[in-house]
Amino acid sequence: MDTIYFDNNATTKVDPQVLEVMLPFFKESYGNPSSMHHKGGEVAASLRQARISLAELLGCEPHEIIYNSCGTESDNTAIWSALRTQPDKRHLVTSKVEHSAIINNAAFLKRLGYRVTEVGVDRLGRLDMDEFKSSLSPDTALVTLLWGNNETGVLFPIEEIGQYCRERGIVFHTDAVQTVGKIPIDLKNSQIDMLSLSGHKLHAPKGIGALYVRHGLKFAPFMIGGHQENGRRGGTENVPYIVGLGKAAELARQRLPEENGRVKALRDRLEAGLLTIPSTMVNGDREYRLPNTTNISFEFIEGESILFHLSHAGICASSGSACTSGSLEPSHVLRAMGVPFTAAHGSIRLSLSVTNTDQEVDQALKIFPEVIKKLRDLSPFWKDGAPALDNGLLTCDDGNCQVCS
Ligand SMILES: *Cc1c(COP(=O)(O)O)cnc(C)c1O
Repeated sequence: MDTIYFDNNATTKVDPQVLEVMLPFFKESYGNPSSMHHKGGEVAASLRQARISLAELLGCEPHEIIYNSCGTESDNTAIWSALRTQPDKRHLVTSKVEHSAIINNAAFLKRLGYRVTEVGVDRLGRLDMDEFKSSLSPDTALVTLLWGNNETGVLFPIEEIGQYCRERGIVFHTDAVQTVGKIPIDLKNSQIDMLSLSGHKLHAPKGIGALYVRHGLKFAPFMIGGHQENGRRGGTENVPYIVGLGKAAELARQRLPEENGRVKALRDRLEAGLLTIPSTMVNGDREYRLPNTTNISFEFIEGESILFHLSHAGICASSGSACTSGSLEPSHVLRAMGVPFTAAHGSIRLSLSVTNTDQEVDQALKIFPEVIKKLRDLSPFWKDGAPALDNGLLTCDDGNCQVCS
């Protein structure tokens, strides 16, 4: 059975060309880039070249990039730098639909006595701009908002948000881990102060990330140590991975038209096919969205059961719900959007990449209807091919779910 991998927002396959350029740095090119001898010098040169490739993808200067271990470290670094360089300010603005790397930091800051505003979204996952604007104050140290949502693909209006922050002198960070390589980015002409990215979301390996810090922005390092990265992140550089990320950036830049053409068309065809299954809907704004992502609810059945059956048929996807073991909390993103429980529980995220093909979409469109039908035949909310809501059972929306428990 061939695997159909539709979980590229969780992680991507390392591109063979990326692996190829990494290998010498595990073998003969083992020098420390800080060393004065030729073994160090040749590695330092490769590092410089990789930094230029990544800067070209982002439209920034190479020295504005700080390499680190992952997207999560980038998010942590951005938050703590903004707070430590502005110790008098005690307020952070973020949203209700962020990645856990931001959400859990925000929760921790609250416990430390900081004020945190989590701006809401509408039914389509779009940021409440009025609430955002009125949340800012002279006490705001940082606005941190997701660019492309990892669960729904919905894009926040980062330029408008950045402009609004810039006019008020407020530092603006965006988690662009899902966005880099999927839509064009031109940091030089943006109002973004800091931006997070992660290698393994764009066909480089896991364990390499980067933070863009605009030239001139005050910065406090998260990892204190040696003089690496201009003293902004201590620790000997992860040379093979940085070189791999450079190649991945180069490939991503070449493949942007394919990502927004062929991959988007595959996503759209998959989505349109799935929507012909009854009681099915897309979660999130379908216009202003990443080209590779769709989040679909199959009402009245469980996301986890769908995943299990899909996996059995060779399809890798992910779900936003976790209505298991008595926990009634589906995805915080879908809840913030006000998606009803009966739909949120049956939500599936399908995220494509340049590795996917037309044949895979054809195959998925054969498998999905069978899986959904099988599960609905077992659902107390489904009878004779249609919803059966008068069955007397309480759902999560009633606060005491007899379906989940
Ligand atoms: C994957 C992801 C992260 C975390 O990146 P890691 O490199 O896995 O730490 C952060 N934010 C978003 C939006 C992500 O999708």
